[in-house]
Amino acid sequence: MEYVQPVQSTPIILAENLTKVYQAGRLQVTAVRDVSLAVEPSEFVAIVGPSGSGKSTLFYLLGGLTQATHGRVIIDGVDFATLSDAERTRLRKHRIGFVFQKFNLLPTLSAMGNIEIAYAVSGRTEGGKKVPLDRVYLDHLSDLLSIQGRLKHRPAELSGGEQQRVAIARALITRPAIVLADEPTGNLDTKNSEAVLQMLLRSNRELGQTTLMITHNPEAAAIAGRILHMRDGEIVSEESGSRSGMVTPGLRSAATVV
Ligand code: ADP
Repeated sequence: MEYVQPVQSTPIILAENLTKVYQAGRLQVTAVRDVSLAVEPSEFVAIVGPSGSGKSTLFYLLGGLTQATHGRVIIDGVDFATLSDAERTRLRKHRIGFVFQKFNLLPTLSAMGNIEIAYAVSGRTEGGKKVPLDRVYLDHLSDLLSIQGRLKHRPAELSGGEQQRVAIARALITRPAIVLADEPTGNLDTKNSEAVLQMLLRSNRELGQTTLMITHNPEAAAIAGRILHMRDGEIVSEESGSRSGMVTPGLRSAATVV
């Protein structure tokens, strides 16, 4: 008789008893309080909560952009705290793609130039040699994000939604295992927000990265498979996303309108 072994999955993001205390003059602010969470590979998780609830601080901790006062962050089995600054930067560059509310595109470069420079900065090497940018993969990404016709344009010539989709392509070009998005729809109108959310969902599905999105908007959060609610620095509840898995039919045409 054969037994099917249960699949043992290891979380790709593991936070254990994370606390972050800021010193503001003589005042101490506990922005994140004893937070533990585990995110499995390929999950799409949203962290939602009102302004000041500690979402951004948790984002910075999970992305290795700031150090915890207590507790630890383990990314793909590696404890951030055991790394030197240079090693932490390397892990971040190779394993994590960041998407921010402000698109942060370089204004003097075209969309394509922004993506290319992000790839060059990541310094991907194999056997001591630089790995050239995979143009086929870039085509695939541009297609997925519906930015094919926009790549020669500078950011100022693109709509907000297009700029954010270029920023997502820039985050994905290094093939990160994890995408961390901080209020990715915060600067966008409803239509553009929906297109960007659908693109994040599609890239999560089709490219298989783990996606963690911070938002104050419950409607945006609903697209995630799992939603964690934050209040006063703590995760207070968890639920499934009511719009999880919904890829809007006719997305491509919706995306090209914006
Ligand atoms: P959110 O992203 O949910 O708005 P934040 O993580 O930005 O929440 O902030 C959580 C708390 O920590 C707030 O009370 C905020 O004022 C405080 N805080 C954030 N950053 C700093 C800082 N650099 N110095 C002092 N206090 C901070």
